[in-house]
Amino acid sequence: MDLTAVQVRNRMVLSARLIITDHWPRVGRSGWCPVCRYRWPCSATSTAYAYLTVVGQGLWVPSDRRGRR
Ligand SMILES: [Zn+2]
Repeated sequence: MDLTAVQVRNRMVLSARLIITDHWPRVGRSGWCPVCRYRWPCSATSTAYAYLTVVGQGLWVPSDRRGRR
């Protein structure tokens, strides 16, 4: 088992999730990236989702963006 490859992959997944969370539309501004100030999904989000799709997590969404308190 190649632990290094697994660790790199896990790091990539975490980075992709961070990018998606950062670029996720804010409440009241759906369809709009708050970082790129461009229509969502922006290119950063698309790239991150492309990676998550490769590793089988393409349906992941930030849990703290649902039902914010
Ligand atoms: Zn963006």
